Amino acid sequence: MKSVIVHYQEIALKGNNRPWFVARLARNLRTATKGVGVREVRVLMGRIELVLAEGAEWNQISSRLSDVFGVANFARAGRAPLDVDAIAREILNELGDRQTDTFRVSARRANKRFPLTSPEIEREVGGRIKEARGWRVDLSHPSLTIHVEALTGDAFYFFGKEPGAGGLPAGTSGRVVCLLSGGIDSPVAAWRLIRRGCRAIFVHFHSYPILSRASQEKVRELVGVLTRFQYDSRLFLVPFGEIQQRVVLSVAPPLRVVVYRRLMMRIAEAVALRARAQSLVTGEVVGQVASQTLENMSVIDRVVTMPVLRPLVGMDKDEITAQAQRLGTYPISIIPDQDCCTLFTPRHPATKARLADVEAAEAALPIEELVTQALTAAVIEKAHYPV
Ligand code: ATP
Ligand code: MG
Repeated sequence: MKSVIVHYQEIALKGNNRPWFVARLARNLRTATKGVGVREVRVLMGRIELVLAEGAEWNQISSRLSDVFGVANFARAGRAPLDVDAIAREILNELGDRQTDTFRVSARRANKRFPLTSPEIEREVGGRIKEARGWRVDLSHPSLTIHVEALTGDAFYFFGKEPGAGGLPAGTSGRVVCLLSGGIDSPVAAWRLIRRGCRAIFVHFHSYPILSRASQEKVRELVGVLTRFQYDSRLFLVPFGEIQQRVVLSVAPPLRVVVYRRLMMRIAEAVALRARAQSLVTGEVVGQVASQTLENMSVIDRVVTMPVLRPLVGMDKDEITAQAQRLGTYPISIIPDQDCCTLFTPRHPATKARLADVEAAEAALPIEELVTQALTAAVIEKAHYPV
């Protein structure tokens, strides 16, 4: 079996954009399978074929494919001429001495000019296999399902399907700037947007040299994990320690967290404008910590004109943690570090900061200048996958 058949689902619904979605998915599949023996990626009728090179390692290919967003399912497949005798012969050949008690053939006819309908293909091919093997046909609970797909020129057959990652192909939904802290939540938030087809640009605020470089190293690793799903990433490392020192000089402790956040948002929005991104993404959750109240979130959002997306807003911590574990970011996120928020963070932040108070406190700060300085000092790093 020298092919892989990739099915997409949701993107089939995208109307006029469909060819563009499919082309993008094909390009992503090409990128994702670089170096593991895929010779060619071809867009066929309603599905995509990967043509395997001699000696391609199925385990490697399958593990790469299971992370590609926009894939509903995929299967290692064989190709046969478009003729029921030939299809049955190839299938029997491929089955070798494989045994089963019950089976069924499940056919799909993408090429409507092929003279047999799907049920007819199922009967014809199934009949030949039953005759050769003596297996019983069970249409509702077969132990083995043999899939046949009749396209133009060729038919494909495969046994069983592996679930794909779902979502939409990376790069089909526009760009977002993700505020990545090094904690558990923000990488999961970023992942959820990437899964919906967004290209994530990452921003991390650090307090080096006041604190160690640990938070930057963690974020670099987190970006490494997330890049597996979008192939190319950019990470803006923004020095934030001096800004915090300025805030501490003039802002009363309870308001500091909200003021830090508003500064982060302004800087992130400036990055987004530069990168032509349309939204900001954070890992905030209603009520998770004192600063994440509806009141504070609305005061924070006031400083930007872009939508602030909070994909985790209604999740429990244990749900987010489970997601982080599946994603593989959890062990990185729990490495202890001193993130910039531990620095100069008051013990009792205001849970209901009032906009007027926050604005009054900010009046003493050279906001524009701080934002410009931070942007100028930002270091941009790139990450690629596969490396
Ligand atoms: P996380 O687990 O993502 O760190 P958290 O529960 O610690 O979240 P906060 O510290 O209140 O919550 O941060 C809320 C959100 O603000 C984060 O999810 C992240 O999107 C953003 N954020 C906080 N600190 C930073 C930082 N140093 N750099 C970039 N973004 C940050
Ligand atoms: Mg945090």
